[in-house]
Order: sequence, then structure tokens, then C-alpha cells
Amino acid sequence: MPRPSQNIENIKQAAQDIYGRLPALRQIVDSYLQVFILQEMFAADQKAPAGPPPERDGFRPDYDLQACRNLLLELGRLDFDGNQALTQSGAKVAASVTSGRLSARELFDTVIARDPAGLEKLAAGLDMDPALLGFWGYHGLRPTLVQAAADLADQADGRQAGQPSGTCPVCGAAPALAALEQDGSRRLYCSFCWSHWRIKRLACPFCEKDSGNAHHYFYDESLPGWRVDFCQGCRRYIKTVDLRKLPRFFYPPLENIASLPLDLKAEQENLHPASTGWMPGMFA
Ligand SMILES: [Zn+2]
Ligand SMILES: [Zn+2]
Repeated sequence: MPRPSQNIENIKQAAQDIYGRLPALRQIVDSYLQVFILQEMFAADQKAPAGPPPERDGFRPDYDLQACRNLLLELGRLDFDGNQALTQSGAKVAASVTSGRLSARELFDTVIARDPAGLEKLAAGLDMDPALLGFWGYHGLRPTLVQAAADLADQADGRQAGQPSGTCPVCGAAPALAALEQDGSRRLYCSFCWSHWRIKRLACPFCEKDSGNAHHYFYDESLPGWRVDFCQGCRRYIKTVDLRKLPRFFYPPLENIASLPLDLKAEQENLHPASTGWMPGMFA
């Protein structure tokens, strides 16, 4: 692992490379870059969580309430130049937590439980879009979730029998993207806890078919190294980056933003994302 400050430098350079190629993404990439930098700084100070590791059945990691609350407040006070939805909702969340109108613990517990009804209730009390409230709660927790998932993945002895390859073996969420690794193997990266797992190179990870039907793709020349893999059978797609061709440092959550134009293209092709459920990490 690179040192945190090095990591932050690498992420900044990767962001510059992205909007050097795709100037239209500059505003959104810059917004997320601010979030990721604060999270990497938080992760650098993060201590191992106290107590036993979370149960494998149900991903409910422990978190340091004070530290995560502070991160949430810092994130909420960022200025996302020109992105009113993020700037205003962040300010509202920070103000509501500070005034006691919103309990940070309740928000974090709701995010960890991935409870959309609970989130809607909390959001209604603040007259807020639940997706935005979930976004902020999730990002206050993200470094903790990533750390807890990495600890679990270290102890895990592989995927449980019968578990579909298109869901995260640690937390059960849908993948955000796939990568072809340096050794040519194929991995999926979780949209929630960001752990990653190896899958069959050619089979569809969602319906598990590995006929010729399962493996189609298209790409966009403005995104070197990227393509969209899709399955003719179930019409689901996954954005895939070839790490041997990616011209920059690979930071998966940032790449998820950088490849947003591919999601739009896939939608135009009538393809469906891995999950239509709640993906709190992104609000675009
Ligand atoms: Zn996961
Ligand atoms: Zn399929």
C-alpha cells in the first residue's frame, strides 16, 4: 500500500488526467475529489476498530461515532463549486447534525443497515431528498466500511457456496465496476465496501451464462482502457477497465465517476446496471 499522502497525490493526478481528457467531467470529478481526499486523510488516522470483527453474515461494522461524525461535518461543509445539490444538501446535513435535529448515529446506522425506509423517514424530517441524505451518511462512513471490509476479506476463505458471482462476498452489494488485472484475471469492485473479488473471465457475473451471448462489449474512444461488457441474455452491463491500459493511478471510486459517460451510453442501449437498488456512493 502506498503511504496516505502519496495516495492523495496519486488520486489528484488521476483526477487531472481524467478531466484533461474529458473536460466536461471537471466539475463532478473535482467535487468527488474533495470527498475522497478528506476520506483518505481520515483513513490515514483510522485505528483498528475495537471489539470482535463484524459477523460475516450481514455486514454491520462497528464505527467510531465521534470520528465519523467529524468527517461527516467536514464533508458537509465543503464547497462544491457550481454543484448546488451537493453544496446545499451537505450544508443542511452539517447544520442539522450540529443543532441536534439529525442524529449522526441514526443516520450511520441506517446507512449500514441499508434501510431505504429508515432513510426516507430521516429525510422527511429534514425535508430532504433521501438519496442525498444517504449519500452524505455513506461518505461519512466510507473509510470505515472500506477498512472493515478489507479486514474481513483478509480472513475470508473464499466465496460461500451458491453465492452469485455478481454480488459482493463481503457485504452483498452490487459491483460498481470490473477490472482486468495485470495478470489478465477479471475482478469486480463493490459499490458499497469497495472490496474486490475474482470472477470468471468470460461468463456473465449476473446470470452466470457463459455462452457466446454472454460476452459482448462496446467502448468509447474518449475513455482509453475502458469498455462496457454486457450480456445479451439478461441485458445487464458492467463497466470494465483494463488496468494494463489505464493511463493513470487506479482509484476505483474515482474511476466510477470518470466512466459515467459509459453509464449514459449503456442506458441508451437499453442495458441495465448491476443493481437498480440503492448505490449511495454516487449522486450524479
Ligand atoms: Zn461489498
Ligand atoms: Zn447475463
